[in-house]
Amino acid sequence: MSKKTHYLADSNTKEIHDLSNPVMDCKLEKINKEYITFLQNNQELNEYLDEGYDGCPFCLRTRSQKAKKSS
Ligand SMILES: [Zn+2]
Repeated sequence: MSKKTHYLADSNTKEIHDLSNPVMDCKLEKINKEYITFLQNNQELNEYLDEGYDGCPFCLRTRSQKAKKSS
């Protein structure tokens, strides 16, 4: 079941987390369930990024605009 889920989109912070690369700093357990959308593949990830979501600077650094700006 969880094998197919690759990413978690948080509609509150507009950040996407990589579930295959969990990091303590993400504090995924603190995200309210009503904000969570699970993404199944990279195509969905790209669609969300196009819609204004950003990659998490901790676990999805390669796709994070924030991480690029601060480094
Ligand atoms: Zn994260």
